[in-house]
Amino acid sequence: MAIISCPACNKPISDKAKSCSHCNYEFGDASAEDIQRKLSMQRYNKIQKLQNQSMIAILLFIVGCYFVFLGDFPNDEQGLMMYNGAVFVTTIGFIWYAINRVRITLTKRS
Ligand SMILES: [Zn+2]
Repeated sequence: MAIISCPACNKPISDKAKSCSHCNYEFGDASAEDIQRKLSMQRYNKIQKLQNQSMIAILLFIVGCYFVFLGDFPNDEQGLMMYNGAVFVTTIGFIWYAINRVRITLTKRS
């Protein structure tokens, strides 16, 4: 018998328990260990998905930066709009990446 944490309330319970003695969470036919394994799989998949999104965000940021600093925009209203668009893409990429970093950290911690 091992002590694991309840998938619902995170309090320590036996891995053979059919329900949590703290929050009365019912595990049904699956043992608490099975449920926890499933939850950690889901968490792993979620982190993978967030990491993929981070990659896209970094790509947006890099492409945006490239155009902001090296883009050869015409010196008129249209050029200004293109420049602002590049700044916008860079900002979105950076914010998106930051949000994903926070979400990955939170998911790993929970
Ligand atoms: Zn519980």
